[in-house]
Amino acid sequence: MTGPQTAPSRVLVASDLDRTLIYSAAAMALGESVVDPVCVEIYDDRPTSFIHPDALAGLVALSAATWFVPVTTRTRAQFGRIVLPGVRVTHAVTTNGGVLLSDGVPCPDWAAEVARRTAEGASYPEAVRALAPVWERPWVRTVRDAEELFLYCVVETADTPAEWYDELLEAVTALGWVLSVQGRKCYAIPPGLTKQAAVAEVVRRVGADAVAAAGDSWLDAGMLAAADHPVRPAHGELHDQGWSTPGLTVTTSAGGRAGAEIVDAFRGWTAPDGVGWSTVSSDNGP
Ligand SMILES: [Mg+2]
Repeated sequence: MTGPQTAPSRVLVASDLDRTLIYSAAAMALGESVVDPVCVEIYDDRPTSFIHPDALAGLVALSAATWFVPVTTRTRAQFGRIVLPGVRVTHAVTTNGGVLLSDGVPCPDWAAEVARRTAEGASYPEAVRALAPVWERPWVRTVRDAEELFLYCVVETADTPAEWYDELLEAVTALGWVLSVQGRKCYAIPPGLTKQAAVAEVVRRVGADAVAAAGDSWLDAGMLAAADHPVRPAHGELHDQGWSTPGLTVTTSAGGRAGAEIVDAFRGWTAPDGVGWSTVSSDNGP
């Protein structure tokens, strides 16, 4: 495809969703309260995820001017539940880089490339077998597979002993896989399955000149390190580890307000010659 007709900018914006742009009610409250959050996901008849209204308005304007690419560890089905009204999305990356959607349709070429990239090292069935004994604990509520590319479990954090995370890390590391702990979810991901590889493929396909990227977890670190303009919120797995990379912007706010700051940063980086954008209102900002 060609770039948007109205786009003078050649900067592609690649962003994680959960706890970066969209938030559960609990994650929203990691920072100061957000007035009039917009519901963007309903699951089991319940409002589940929200976005700061300024972040949504900013994304609508941003996506009209350049490529906005959601990049999520959610499976394709989980991603499909999210509705960002007015936001233009031509490409999206789901399943931690395992699926590349072009106009909502998975690209078979990319699926074949992912199969090649994940062929080395421990396979998915090997990981299932090796991790099964570690999952079998009373605090592990559920174990899920993500399109048979990776695994994650959901734990009862209050009941989970710290030593168990060490045991899980040891088992995942022994496989040569990567562990990411995000709230109640613990992800075990093969090393060949990365967000940054899928983003690089989208950049190649659309012909972008530069990348602005945002994310909050260890699974976003590679994407941030590869980006020309990286930004992360002041909460989450990377923040807790004090993670940084050259040129990194860190928001001043935590929680849902950080999402608005991130979109504001994106708009600054994608503005033609650094001008032309109005600043996002910050009446409830820091
Ligand atoms: Mg996230």
